[in-house]
Amino acid sequence: MRKLLFQSLFRRPFTEEAPSPDDAALAELASELGHAARRRLGRSLSIREIDAGSCNGCELEIHALSNAYYDVERFGLRFVASPRHADVLMVTKNMREALERTYHATPDPKWVIAIGDCARDGGCFAGSYAVVGGVSEVVPVDLHIPGCPPTPTAMLRGLLALLERVDTGAVSP
Ligand code: SF4
Repeated sequence: MRKLLFQSLFRRPFTEEAPSPDDAALAELASELGHAARRRLGRSLSIREIDAGSCNGCELEIHALSNAYYDVERFGLRFVASPRHADVLMVTKNMREALERTYHATPDPKWVIAIGDCARDGGCFAGSYAVVGGVSEVVPVDLHIPGCPPTPTAMLRGLLALLERVDTGAVSP
């Protein structure tokens, strides 16, 4: 036992090294997004995430935005627990009634972002009797962020692109 404990002090962990993302670019992107939200809304951007049926891959990446590494709250972006407090709905897939009710409970102005390939057209589950189709089959979608799953950085880029389109009037509240 003592030998094992001693070895574990010096042995490298078995897990692979994580790729090192560009910290400066990430901070710049999130900060720009925070500024864009304040310019457009006069306050932080509040996001309600709806996982209306998925493999959870996209959801894990969305959760990563709030972890200690990405920590998007420091830039004024908040994930909220109720659609009544939200500006943006991030949807990962279809569950028709829950999605419709959440959409109608979210006050205007609001925007819908469909995250991942499944949210666009059902992805690898398309054609299943249990899948209605893309999110746009149920509620209007303002932006789709592709990927299986998309990275947290791609989601931040997507949110920024959405606010820029709102600023130029290309997307209406
Ligand atoms: S897009 Fe990929 S990761 Fe996201 S829910 Fe579908 S299968 Fe899972």
